[in-house]
Amino acid sequence: MRKGTGEVVEVFDGRSGGWDAEVVEAGKMKGALRVLAQVRPQRDPPDLWLLFAPIKRARTDFIVEKAAEMGAARICPVQTDFTNSERIRRDRLQAHAVEAAEQCGGTFVPEVAEIEKLGALLDHWPEDRRLMFCDEGLAGAGATLPRDAGPWAVLIGPEGGFSEAERSRLAALPQAHAVSLGPRILRADTAAVAALTLWQTTLGDWA
Ligand code: SAM
Repeated sequence: MRKGTGEVVEVFDGRSGGWDAEVVEAGKMKGALRVLAQVRPQRDPPDLWLLFAPIKRARTDFIVEKAAEMGAARICPVQTDFTNSERIRRDRLQAHAVEAAEQCGGTFVPEVAEIEKLGALLDHWPEDRRLMFCDEGLAGAGATLPRDAGPWAVLIGPEGGFSEAERSRLAALPQAHAVSLGPRILRADTAAVAALTLWQTTLGDWA
């Protein structure tokens, strides 16, 4: 950053709102700030997780960035039966989430979890958390999102979609609600943004 000593920048730690801070040291290798005063209150998103199957690197980066902008509270990469990319760099994705929060003037940074197998995640799925299962098999159907308040998660599949075994597993999970994202099959990155929009406008902080 091209800031010199005496200039003021806004800083945040993800928990305590936004603060003005004065640059008191601006060296090539290090710098120092003195925190002055709080300028924005902490604003946390609703309790919504995004579960998604990683796809190609640039598109996975896009999903994490958009999820942070759209107000996901936690981002959970999941390995599904047809996931084409099983290795992710969690630290890189976390850095993308921080950048996205900076870009949109947020004070909250969603945690990016380690990748986990979808089956294992469902084995210990919290009883009180509903799961919006975006099922491409319902494309064109008029499935709607139940207006149940409380913790939620959105689940987006990979390019290959969900296997029949995963569909049966999700159908047996009482917390899961299969939904359609309209008449067209969307790419996974588009689907993630569409699903977060649908949830935020129905149950979240756009409602
Ligand atoms: N290969 C699959 C097919 O041809 O049916 C398409 C998978 S789609 C590219 C990736 C993910 O986006 C899906 O697993 C689903 O979670 C979500 N998705 C895309 N379009 C959808 C729709 N119209 N309704 C519900 N979910 C959708």
